[in-house]
Amino acid sequence: MRRSLAPVLALSLLLPAALGAVSPPTPTGPALWEAWPTARVSPADPWGLKHSGLRVALADLQARHPGLITLVEEGTSAEGRQIPLLRLGSGPTGVLLWSQMHGDEPTATSALLDLMHWLGTRPQDPAVQRVLSRLTLWVIPMLNPDGAERTQRWNAQGLDINRDALRLSSPEGRFLKAVRDRVQPTVGYNLHNQNPHLRAGATGTQVALSLLSVPGDEAFSVTPGIRQTRRLAVAVDRLVQPLAQGRVARYDTDYTARAFGDSMTRWGTPTLLIETGGWAGPAEAERLVRLNFVALAGSLSALADGSLAAVDDAAYDRIPFNQRDATAALVVRHVRLASGRGLAPFAADLSFLLPGPFAGERPRLRQPVLTEVGDLAHVLGLADLDGTGLLAVPWPAPEGTDWPALKTLLASRKLDATDEATLLAAVQTKGEAAVAGPGFTGAVLLYRTVGDRVLLAGAVLRGRVVGLELR
Ligand SMILES: [Zn+2]
Repeated sequence: MRRSLAPVLALSLLLPAALGAVSPPTPTGPALWEAWPTARVSPADPWGLKHSGLRVALADLQARHPGLITLVEEGTSAEGRQIPLLRLGSGPTGVLLWSQMHGDEPTATSALLDLMHWLGTRPQDPAVQRVLSRLTLWVIPMLNPDGAERTQRWNAQGLDINRDALRLSSPEGRFLKAVRDRVQPTVGYNLHNQNPHLRAGATGTQVALSLLSVPGDEAFSVTPGIRQTRRLAVAVDRLVQPLAQGRVARYDTDYTARAFGDSMTRWGTPTLLIETGGWAGPAEAERLVRLNFVALAGSLSALADGSLAAVDDAAYDRIPFNQRDATAALVVRHVRLASGRGLAPFAADLSFLLPGPFAGERPRLRQPVLTEVGDLAHVLGLADLDGTGLLAVPWPAPEGTDWPALKTLLASRKLDATDEATLLAAVQTKGEAAVAGPGFTGAVLLYRTVGDRVLLAGAVLRGRVVGLELR
């Protein structure tokens, strides 16, 4: 028996995968991460892709991969923009993926373009073959083109489509519901962006992706369909952890009957919510698209090849929850703050936020802003300055003021090196324009105390530290 083993092994390596002798493994996260540059057709700035650009990108994909992508039908937005519904593959398991139901949440839209190109460029890849032969993908890459045009959450009616699943007052919501009812998909992917300033657990890092096996009832009943989306969430977590360690969280929510994910699950299409957060650093937007691509291509592959069934869904409960308001663009810690009203300096931390393209339900930030003063030990600073020994004082800084100009101005008033009482008196004369409370958009000057003198060392100017080294 032993003697025959080697020839059998040799033979099995020669047999084509179609005969079932070799079952290539599910693609790993790192393998998909490395595949992305050749799969990529998405733009550098996902927020820059609007309805017209999407139509060009889809036409280009259809031309490059004849027969891969069928334009099934188009819905119509409140303002008359077409909403393409695409179909790829011909398998028995239907998967409905919809993105950008909130107009300022485009990361997954770009990832879906890359996913479609990946499927088109690798016809010999067994993983791609399995996705296209065992699944039918129904893709709505941009459900809210009117909101995308304005880079806003709501549609042109001012409706949050994701709170319109019961009333169906929006044409976009009616379209999504009609597609679901006609296609009856086995699984849904509800693709969003979230506030980038969330933390994975109380002590974790900035959340790049958060996941939710969307409940279908108040009791969060674990049905076979829910178990499936719990497994999908675990699969996504395992795919992206080697690339973005500690940056995955569970989306923390109540059951929301009027939301689409919850309704999809209730209607019989158990749905996985994927929310893209932030990942501070160079080319952040592109890295998040890449991570989404890995999550989508990898989890769909696991669904298609059956390996998902072996995933332990209990691991879902061990993914840490999103912690809200727990990161800031910059935290300056342990300063003595003289906040401008002539009050005695007190010990404080300061946090700052910078404007970004995602606004969600909050008013859009127009400029960098001081967000909180006080004990911010629980807040993770994406940039962090230990201000121990520094005196912080607010100073009005009109837009366009840079650090050299600010230093020159202060030197001309002999406030670059002075005594503390003189400095605080000068700040107080600025009145309300120099009160360092939440909402303050001016500069925060940072002085070192040397004997009875204070020396200008640096500042926070438009949410960034100047003149001092960050740790
Ligand atoms: Zn959203």
